[in-house]
Amino acid sequence: MSDRAEVLLVEDERALRELFVDVLTAAGHEVVARPTLTDAAAFLAAHQPDLVLLDVKLPDGDGLEFLARQRAAGLRVPVVVMTAFGTLDRAVQALKAGAVDFLVKPFDNARLVSAVGQGLEGGARLEELEFAAGTVGAEGALSAQLIGAEGGLRDVAALLPRVASSDATVLLRGESGTGKEVVARALHAASPRLDGPFVAINCAALPPSLLEAELFGFERGAFTGAHAARKGLVEQADGGTLFLDEIGDMSAEAQGRLLRVLQEREVARIGGRAPVKVDIRVIAATHRDLAAMAAQGTFRSDLLYRLNVVPIALPPLRDRRQDIPGLIEHFLEKHERRLKRSGPRPTAELLRQAQAHAWPGNVRELENAVERAVVLGHFELPGAAPAPLPTSPSPAPAASPRKARTLREAVAEAERAAVVDALREAGGNKAEAARLLGVSYKTLFNKLHEHAIREETVVA
Ligand code: CA
Repeated sequence: MSDRAEVLLVEDERALRELFVDVLTAAGHEVVARPTLTDAAAFLAAHQPDLVLLDVKLPDGDGLEFLARQRAAGLRVPVVVMTAFGTLDRAVQALKAGAVDFLVKPFDNARLVSAVGQGLEGGARLEELEFAAGTVGAEGALSAQLIGAEGGLRDVAALLPRVASSDATVLLRGESGTGKEVVARALHAASPRLDGPFVAINCAALPPSLLEAELFGFERGAFTGAHAARKGLVEQADGGTLFLDEIGDMSAEAQGRLLRVLQEREVARIGGRAPVKVDIRVIAATHRDLAAMAAQGTFRSDLLYRLNVVPIALPPLRDRRQDIPGLIEHFLEKHERRLKRSGPRPTAELLRQAQAHAWPGNVRELENAVERAVVLGHFELPGAAPAPLPTSPSPAPAASPRKARTLREAVAEAERAAVVDALREAGGNKAEAARLLGVSYKTLFNKLHEHAIREETVVA
């Protein structure tokens, strides 16, 4: 066993391949080089390297498509992509396909060594996090924190580890209560900036001039009342992550200042002369349609372009009703633990009503309702008829015409139905069905087994 990191290099051009092998070997890594995707796939089927360095244009296919397939099949190691085309679109595609970094050819040796080194570090940190949380895999720590449910935001959750390990600016879109700050915190916690500060501000909560002073700081005497110089939140987030919630509510003035921070990686305090360098990762969130605002001229399109490097949409709860039983169970457990008391068990009828409710306040509203139920000892879900209070502890023989299912049964039933629907829609193609369900092939395979779903019954 060697403690040197093993890098799989996939590059068809012989001269480059030999050069990269030399550079990375000199940097202390063990390198396995393969000239085609077919060769690389054969290697990955039998080995798990610590990192993959992947060319995009290969004789037998597209590197990014290969990467997306490998990720779907469960490849967990960090991947650094190399391409000759350095467009932002290409970079975003690479991130979405699951790359942690992106090198534009030609690049110098130092950049190659640093990208591989950082990729390896990020991979190790993610693994640590997952082990610490007792969960490993695509449905690991981050997803558990995010969804706490059997389904739902898996698409988003699957994207997060990869997005987290990069420094790319992220724009989260979703209604209030959909968990934008939870996602931002999860991204920070899984990023190499973990030990740095996480600084959050709601741009809609402050009047414009105050927001600017808070964000960018000021020098003494910059305006009436500025008796002493102060660091803004941008400076306070140095080395960490700055989370700007409700960025659509930012004034034009503040938008201009923020654009400068993103472009120049430096901040000018109000009334200050020399700008200060900052090393921050920005995550922005909004419930507004920034593209429409940019078209109307109320949001700077150049700022939108800078922010929108990795857009992530968080669906409203009413668009993922199948998750509601699982979420109720998750929040019950959470608040029972926190409040050290046991809450009521939801009946099948209550779950049905909860799934029918529109939940304008989304997951946050649902969590509040469940927390209240743990405190009160019975559910009072909005939109649901109030459940009868438990009357006596005696084993009531009160005739219940319908046998209530346990939550687990209800969830399993919903899950089985979703799997069957997806398989039908995919015409029995399991890879396609897994994609529709937003789960890995392996997860689908396990679910087929768990629910004893036989293909012939599905497709017949
Ligand atoms: Ca090539």
